[in-house]
This record gives sequence, C-alpha cells and structure tokens, in this order.
Amino acid sequence: MAVPKRKKSKAKTRARRANHDRTTLPNISICSNCGADMVSHRACTSCGWYNGRVAVPVAAEPVEAPAE
Ligand SMILES: [Zn+2]
Repeated sequence: MAVPKRKKSKAKTRARRANHDRTTLPNISICSNCGADMVSHRACTSCGWYNGRVAVPVAAEPVEAPAE
C-alpha cells in the first residue's frame, strides 16, 4: 500500500480542514439594499451591494459563466 513520502505541512492540513471539516456555516445577513439573504462580509449576490455602494456589478440575468 502506498505510504506518504513526506509529512504534510500544517498549512496543507489546515487548508484542507478549513474546507472539508468545517463545523459552522457562514453567517447569513440581510442585504440593506435589496433585502435578500447574503453572506456576511461578502458582496450581495443578487444586487452586488457592499458597504453602502454597488461593489460588484450584477447582470440583470443570472450568468452561468463570465464571458471572457
Ligand atoms: Zn442586495
């Protein structure tokens, strides 16, 4: 059976655990501009509002992948 050649660094271990072994969900708040549920400390995904202004322009139609 294959055995790891080297010890995994603390950073590698912690980076994996940060995503896979998360114990708490991100905080959800209400957008002060449009009232939608949004993740705290992130721009609103429905209107792009953050910190009192439109930080991220959001297209009227939901876009699957950014066009170039
Ligand atoms: Zn919003």
